[in-house]
Amino acid sequence: MKHVAVIGAGIAGIATAAGLQAAGHAVTLFEKSRGPGGRCATRRSAAGNFNHGAPDFLATTAAFRTQVLQWHDAGWVGIDGESGASPIHEASPLRAFGLPSMNALAQQLAAQLPAGVELRFNTHVTGIESARDAGNDHAWRLRLLDGQLDATRFDTVVVAVPAEQAAVLLGPDAALAEAMRLTHSDPCWTVMAAWSDRLPALAGDRRRHDPLGVLSLARCDDARPGRSNVDDIGCRWVLHASPTWTVDHLDAAPADVIADLLRAFARQRGADLGTPVHSAAHRWRYAQVQTPRAEPFGWNASLRLGACGDAWHGASNSPQQRADGMERAWLSGRAIAEKVARD
Ligand SMILES: Cc1cc2nc3c(=O)[nH]c(=O)nc-3n(C[C@H](O)[C@H](O)[C@H](O)COP(=O)(O)OP(=O)(O)OC[C@H]3O[C@@H](n4cnc5c(N)ncnc54)[C@H](O)[C@@H]3O)c2cc1C
Repeated sequence: MKHVAVIGAGIAGIATAAGLQAAGHAVTLFEKSRGPGGRCATRRSAAGNFNHGAPDFLATTAAFRTQVLQWHDAGWVGIDGESGASPIHEASPLRAFGLPSMNALAQQLAAQLPAGVELRFNTHVTGIESARDAGNDHAWRLRLLDGQLDATRFDTVVVAVPAEQAAVLLGPDAALAEAMRLTHSDPCWTVMAAWSDRLPALAGDRRRHDPLGVLSLARCDDARPGRSNVDDIGCRWVLHASPTWTVDHLDAAPADVIADLLRAFARQRGADLGTPVHSAAHRWRYAQVQTPRAEPFGWNASLRLGACGDAWHGASNSPQQRADGMERAWLSGRAIAEKVARD
């Protein structure tokens, strides 16, 4: 039995931990935040919940479709079109969303991890250091944010964090670190806004069109089943700034970002939307990878050090059928778990 440290409890890290545990290995999952999910995220507010990371996700591969249908059977995800004419099992690809929120899905997945997986929240790993000695070939110890070395020795470490952050942790393997340094994640400013009334409906493509390129997405966050209702709140919207706009405004003050994105939203809808009763902004410094690595995951068998997540392909994909971030993260985590268990 190996003792594996997995760094990052997003979808990729959770899939890695679940796969390794199923293969009989001991796993410690380190997560710097107070809960699981990473970019599969939901922000609570007095105006209700906002899914300010991935709003939903596609399942394009057979493996992920099967998994998503199991989550659906468990009541953890809804699937677009499930009340329509064609049975969802035949729909391809599936578009799914967490119930009642995106982060609730991650919470469910983490809660299902077997008792053998040790979950360490609020634990920020800053380095992976060799603790090799005569009796122990592949021993790693983790350096934590407080500067201390964690007491546990691991024979394997899997890094499941965004590429740019993985590059820093993967120092012991220059090639893996370089691969992650060369993988770019687009940043994304998001604005969460609630109004006391519903906004007037808009027809067709206008919803997506922003002539000045400020917004890449404006999405009504309570349009899907299962979303929480709050008294006196008519609608909640999440606005995503485009990557170009976000790069140009990366260090802007949140209040200015909120004003700019709300202006762009009103322009897009061709209406004065009035002042929302609630607004907040969140900056994702590393939101989405447009060009992932071609490999399913990164793995150095002699060091027993690996990396997975949405920076990797997770499975072979034809250019016509490219998996999105959530699917790549899950596939990649599952694939590296199989590799680590085999090697
Ligand atoms: C605004 C936005 C919109 C998106 N839209 C979509 C979409 O429509 N469809 C889609 O499929 N995907 C979308 N995505 C991308 C999707 O959310 C990600 O691809 C996916 O969640 C990545 O999962 P992951 O496990 O690889 O990484 P993450 O979810 O980032 O998880 C990594 C975890 O590691 C933790 N961590 C990081 N560094 C450390 C450290 N040093 N020590 C300990 N813990 C650490 C983090 O806190 C985090 O919990 C979107 C993302 C954003 C932000």
